[in-house]
Amino acid sequence: MATPQPRANVAQIPAYVAGKPPTVLPGQASYKLSSNENPYPPLPGVVEAASAAVAAMNRYPDMGSSALYAALADRLAVPVTDLAVATGSVALLYQLPMAFCDPGDEVVYAWRSFEAYPIAAAAAGATSVQVPLLPDGRHDLEAMLAAITDRTKVVTVCTPNNPTGPSVTQTELDAFIARVPEHVVVVVDEAYVEFVRMDDAVDGLATYRAHPNVALFRTFSKAYGLAGFRVGYAVAQEPIAAAMRAVSLPFGVNAVAQAAAIASLAAEDDLLERVEALAVERGRVLAALTELGWDLPEPQGNFVWFALGERTAAFAAATDAVGVTVRPFAGEGARVTIGESEANDRLIEVARAFVSA
Ligand SMILES: *Cc1c(COP(=O)(O)O)cnc(C)c1O
Repeated sequence: MATPQPRANVAQIPAYVAGKPPTVLPGQASYKLSSNENPYPPLPGVVEAASAAVAAMNRYPDMGSSALYAALADRLAVPVTDLAVATGSVALLYQLPMAFCDPGDEVVYAWRSFEAYPIAAAAAGATSVQVPLLPDGRHDLEAMLAAITDRTKVVTVCTPNNPTGPSVTQTELDAFIARVPEHVVVVVDEAYVEFVRMDDAVDGLATYRAHPNVALFRTFSKAYGLAGFRVGYAVAQEPIAAAMRAVSLPFGVNAVAQAAAIASLAAEDDLLERVEALAVERGRVLAALTELGWDLPEPQGNFVWFALGERTAAFAAATDAVGVTVRPFAGEGARVTIGESEANDRLIEVARAFVSA
């Protein structure tokens, strides 16, 4: 008997493996370092703004998210027409291929990288082309250029790369973009941009201004601590931004999330203080691990990467046993968020036992 059949590539969509909640240990705090969340509570004024918006839940949100667009345009000094707001930057990852790819068109990105890339490409009917990272967890930009064909519509640079941590430099990005064909959209996924502390760091806004085929993807989920509310945005010159807006879900970003994002932008000084504290803590963790003998890829986000190979599951079990949940990638390694100092201390203790022989 005939039954309804989804498109062939729907069956191939890999499942999103979300970070696990922490194991509860009796009489002891436990910590979730598995989803790159911000350990701080909401920024000042955010709960109040969100609560006020809750009272109007019988109304649809402002469909155009106009106050949020205005606040972002003001903060970034870009025209409103160059923005696309979405329910987290994962939504942008769906919208871009939906707007630019016909079936069989290709999306090139590094691998291993962000979990959602293959899912979003497949959901939009595009074909993923995964280019292996270099051994030190960096993008192999040369190989990514070589992977571009006349079917390529999008190439994504995840910087800092989730889950391995390193960022590309502006010099590397400029040289890369100069060699990408002009009809290919270059996504610069800057989910962790606020945490970057390096020489020759990417200036995303300058890069978008210089190139009509560049789209920056940013999010309120990581540094801004609004992961639960689902707000992200793209910055791209108008034709790309408009195409992403055209395929967006009507009323996607809810009223409470819009209010919280606007209030978070207004609390930027506090935000930068917290981000700086996390960057300092990342430095402390990295120094301690290096001292133990670990040679980790350079962490530029709010997380570190342990290339444990076959020992990954044992490592994740060992951190679980001390109340710290990490994000294992079976047979490859573990990504661990920089969290509360107590959690980071426990991580360092576990890592001591796993220094490679
Ligand atoms: C977390 C993350 C995102 C987006 O998260 P949203 O919560 O959907 O905004 C995008 N890209 C990378 C690389 C990430 O790690």
